[in-house]
Amino acid sequence: MKKKLLIFLSLLTIAAFSACSDQTAATDTKEASIQSSEESTAVESKTAESTQSSEESKTAESTQSSEESKTAESTQSSEESTVAPASTQAPGPLSENVPKKITLSGNRDDRFLADDFCYVEGEKFFLLLEKDVCVPGDYADNVALIMDQLEKETSLTFAVSYPIIPCDTCSVKYGYNPWKDLFFGQKVPIYLFIDRESVGYISCASAEFTIIYDYNLFSDEVWDSVPAYHDNPWRRDGVIEYSTVAHELTHTLTLRHAKLTKILTEGLADYYAEKVLLDLADQSEDFKKSARNMYLINSVKDTLTPENAEEIFLNDYSDLSQIERQDEYTLGRLYGIFLAKNYGDSFLKDFLEVSKEAGYSYSAFLGDLQEKDRVVLTNEFKKLFGDDVFQKFGEWYQTLQ
Ligand SMILES: [Zn+2]
Repeated sequence: MKKKLLIFLSLLTIAAFSACSDQTAATDTKEASIQSSEESTAVESKTAESTQSSEESKTAESTQSSEESKTAESTQSSEESTVAPASTQAPGPLSENVPKKITLSGNRDDRFLADDFCYVEGEKFFLLLEKDVCVPGDYADNVALIMDQLEKETSLTFAVSYPIIPCDTCSVKYGYNPWKDLFFGQKVPIYLFIDRESVGYISCASAEFTIIYDYNLFSDEVWDSVPAYHDNPWRRDGVIEYSTVAHELTHTLTLRHAKLTKILTEGLADYYAEKVLLDLADQSEDFKKSARNMYLINSVKDTLTPENAEEIFLNDYSDLSQIERQDEYTLGRLYGIFLAKNYGDSFLKDFLEVSKEAGYSYSAFLGDLQEKDRVVLTNEFKKLFGDDVFQKFGEWYQTLQ
């Protein structure tokens, strides 16, 4: 299992709050949240033992993708009431009423413990720390390296020219938004959150923000106060989850440009996370370790052939129950490897351009596409990469098995 999935279940609570216009739906969401949390715990346990079966990993994957879309839905409603400052305004505080700005030492062996909300500002991001987050001194530097490398690998930029729709995800979590007077501009707000009650929140992303839950960044005090944590020391293995950071930031990056299918969204996030961390491996031992911790396999559950590859791509795992959704990560990653090899490193940028022209431009959130949209994107995929792209992919896939 990918280490990013060590942190589970999600902002479903957020979904429950935001879906308040539908009381029944909200209740169902909470119940689902509890159930998924239990399933996730089982997966985490196996992960720690390095004996996780693919079946288990699928549960985790499906939980994550479900979480991501729930988060999207929930934040979408809250953003409508938020007014963005003029796009010409420089990022930074709009008043004195913002949490303290801090700098980290840059030294991997140092630890910074947040005693209140505080933030680090980078060239391309705001790192927003919740109280009790404890980060190594080089964390912000490493995030900057990942963002730079992601831009390099994809030839895309986080700083798009149009306004990013602001979302108030914090008010749902805290009941208020400590960051309401901090203007992010084109920089990415990266929230480092704590799951204080072991609800099972997971990392997620939208075009506007990236949210990271990493057990390794929870203070010892929080860790020791939650039985579900301190009774399960395997949950915190000391490997900072930079793969999660890279995965979620890939979502933010691509969503700022255009929408992709689910297979490409999740799979390419894994593809670039692995690629970026391996490219940066000589910069930090932590990158190497985090890449090694990703649970990457080369086969999907259903038989994939040259004949049915297109159909699977078109269905985009939309007809399966969420609990079985998992193969999009594997398949999308393999498409990344295949397209880079056969088409060139610009495949993502070129396809996002095509997607944008087809009407799927800047997309605030992840989420399932309707069938008519999947048909359009599948046809565009063939137009760009060749009518026989699925046949060739299927043949190549079979050589991996
Ligand atoms: Zn994802």
